[in-house]
Amino acid sequence: MKPVLALVGRPNVGKSTLFNHLTRTRDALVADFPGLTRDRKYGSGRIGDRPYVVIDTGGIGEGLEGVVEATTNQAMQALSEADAVLFLVDGRAGLTAADQQLAQQLRQLDKPVHLLVNKIDGVDEHAASAEFYALGLSDLHPVAAETGRNVRRMIEQVLSGFPLPEERDAEQEAEESGIRVAVLGRPNVGKSTLVNRLLGEERVVVYDMAGTTRDTIEIPYTRHGQRYTLLDTAGIRRRGKVFEAVEKFSVVKAMQAVDQAHVVLLVIDAQEGLTEQDLHLLGYVIEVGRCVVMAVNKWDGQPTEQREKIRADLQRRLHFAPWMRFHTISALHGTGVGDLYPLIHRAWESAFPKVSTNRLTRMMEEITARHQPPIVGRNRIKLRYAHIGGSNPPRIIIHGSKADAVPDAYRRYLENRFRELLKLEGTPVRVEFKSGA
Ligand code: GDP
Ligand code: GDP
Repeated sequence: MKPVLALVGRPNVGKSTLFNHLTRTRDALVADFPGLTRDRKYGSGRIGDRPYVVIDTGGIGEGLEGVVEATTNQAMQALSEADAVLFLVDGRAGLTAADQQLAQQLRQLDKPVHLLVNKIDGVDEHAASAEFYALGLSDLHPVAAETGRNVRRMIEQVLSGFPLPEERDAEQEAEESGIRVAVLGRPNVGKSTLVNRLLGEERVVVYDMAGTTRDTIEIPYTRHGQRYTLLDTAGIRRRGKVFEAVEKFSVVKAMQAVDQAHVVLLVIDAQEGLTEQDLHLLGYVIEVGRCVVMAVNKWDGQPTEQREKIRADLQRRLHFAPWMRFHTISALHGTGVGDLYPLIHRAWESAFPKVSTNRLTRMMEEITARHQPPIVGRNRIKLRYAHIGGSNPPRIIIHGSKADAVPDAYRRYLENRFRELLKLEGTPVRVEFKSGA
């Protein structure tokens, strides 16, 4: 699992600047779940071969009194989900009483706390850091979030305490645990109800409740001879009311479930339609490259005249992922739930296209003959051959001259045409280029 890093510190020390630097914003899953994580942002990033999740805990320490309150309520969940804490202070403003109070609280956590003395651009880093040793935190890193100075080195040190991620082999995983399906969605869309439906009512599964808020419950089962493992991100809430008060939805848990799944079953509520949060979640799933099947739940509650409107609206708003299938269901009544299985299967099979280099190259020739690669500078890009470079998500590697100059629009054209010809459904596809001489 990706290590989870929480950024804490009083306002204006540079948390969101660092967050943006670490997640490059464009790729970040920025989640603001109303009433739950209003002030927090979540993102993912990678430095070298080390991926991580980063949480900006937001508004800790609104004034000295606020520190205590904010730390106990708002940021506690983020801290409890973190593997390491990056505690930011302002190297220009100097040490404050709020920093001291925060340091004291963080020292009580049973996790590594790294002290980041920020804004050291243009100042002497040793002089700027000196007074912060008084906080009694041994891992001190002078950084400049804005310019990126020392940031890479700092992250490498922070992450060096965690094991390197293993090379993932989705097919091997499926041998061991069947198709791994993560059931995801916002609170109350009907995940728990759907999980029970998917498992079949006659089989009441007793869950192992040893987990914490961070753990996703894994439920292995077999259906029509096919093995599955459901990753149930909602289970805890239903069983252990204890956790309900803490938080109904854990973004970290959702992200980790995505990382560990082959197929994501994204549940939305027909009444509410596609919300910003659903789109953020979907953005992360696509970024990671997992298959997606969307279940539009609570269809039973929709008047007939509304249904076409909801469908059309979804189609329009999901234009950026035309390969994704959605299906209307009622988890409560069981309607349509069984139909999710064939969709999951199609997606799963699509994630592992079996096609020879020969055939893929011929497809590429057919596609490029119809619509030639553009001329970049003085040279026409020449694409020579294509092969499969990976699965879940499928990666199509194209070799050629000047191939790395292929513009995005043409890459998308190739992606869509390959998808059609290979009859891929329910999975993102990556087309990548390798330039030869
Ligand atoms: P947050 O409230 O902790 O999230 O702080 P912000 O990231 O919003 O930063 C507060 C201010 O400090 C902004 O004006 C930033 O541009 C500035 N800032 C952040 N990092 C640096 C840095 O490394 N050097 C300098 N000089 N300014 C910074
Ligand atoms: P979760 O928080 O996503 O796990 O959602 P739950 O499964 O706990 O469901 C939230 C509420 O929605 C419950 O009151 C369910 O009975 C209700 N619900 C779930 N599925 C349906 C459905 O298909 N139709 C209707 N009308 N209500 C549903």
